[in-house]
Amino acid sequence: MQHGAARQEDRTHRMKSTPLYHVWDYRDADRAFWRDEMEAWLPHKIIDAHTHVMDPRFRLSPMTESMRRQYWVNEVFECIDADTAERCHRAVFPGRQVGCIAFGFPDLDFDLDGGNTWLAEQCVRRGWHNLAVIRPQWSQAAIARLLDQPGVIGLKPYYALISENRETRDAHLESGIFDFLPHHVLEVANARGAWVTLHVPKAARLGHPDNLREIAELRRRYPNVILVIAHLGRSYTEAHAREALPALADDPGIYCDTSAVLNPASHRIALECLGPRRVLYGSDNPICYMRGRRQYDGRAYINRTSYPFHFNRTREAPEIEAQYTLFMYEDLRAIKQACVDLGLTASEDIQAIFHDNAARLIDMVVRRKPAAERRIEEADASR
Ligand SMILES: [Zn+2]
Repeated sequence: MQHGAARQEDRTHRMKSTPLYHVWDYRDADRAFWRDEMEAWLPHKIIDAHTHVMDPRFRLSPMTESMRRQYWVNEVFECIDADTAERCHRAVFPGRQVGCIAFGFPDLDFDLDGGNTWLAEQCVRRGWHNLAVIRPQWSQAAIARLLDQPGVIGLKPYYALISENRETRDAHLESGIFDFLPHHVLEVANARGAWVTLHVPKAARLGHPDNLREIAELRRRYPNVILVIAHLGRSYTEAHAREALPALADDPGIYCDTSAVLNPASHRIALECLGPRRVLYGSDNPICYMRGRRQYDGRAYINRTSYPFHFNRTREAPEIEAQYTLFMYEDLRAIKQACVDLGLTASEDIQAIFHDNAARLIDMVVRRKPAAERRIEEADASR
């Protein structure tokens, strides 16, 4: 990697900067964005409902140069431990009280068991909550044990956890939802009223008819599961949002998180279809500590960033790159823009998106938790 050279070259664009994470730092452009756009607008309390935290010691096999070239996320998805994550929250949300729903890296190059146990402890210590990263092959007993751990409120399935493939991340992209979130797992989640954050499969994203049909089936058969569709169903472009999100409008029990969606049009469509009580703020950090912006062309998008990653082949002019802020700030800017466009100005609505919705749903899981444990104890006693 060209890290050294990039740091050198980058230095000319930096005024006052403090290290954030990986190759990223916090600069005057970010401070200005916070001061001008967010300070007066964001509520005091924030819950980030989609953030990845993992200690690097749980990585089993190293990231390789060829994997970095395969997929842009591989270049930016470096482990962030809980202390660093907490320090970053303080930097990017100055003066705010920030909690989160954290999960590990859904990747078979990690020790998922060890990582789940470690993260649950880290979350309890900080008053955060945790989703356990799971494989579809795991037994009901294993899933139940995870959900019993303090701090764990639910599950984070992912299609890449079906089986290992170091050549491509997309070997299982076209899976059905029940291939990586199988019925035996959903039965346990439903009995516990657990939270599931679902990253939908398929190149066609949420709007693929199989996804919409399977989500409807999941809701019908497992109504106690708190279903949060990640990244607005991967609706990063307006076209994807427009063809998919209206299909979720009529079911008040489906939620979406905003993570990694930088497009104001997508957020506007989500808020129109779901309303501010069903949209949850999420950052998808540490990925969105990346500095840059995203541009759109129909159903495609391109990530622009100031760091010379392999994927970053077409750079913008230095004076434009100098104005970049963090991807997560571009996400916040887009949510704010959508709220302004829709005339969503009531502080209760903004607070719902950034805190109250997640807090309400966490509370539902936590209140059900002892009841589920009680049922198990009663069953044991009657044996
Ligand atoms: Zn994520």
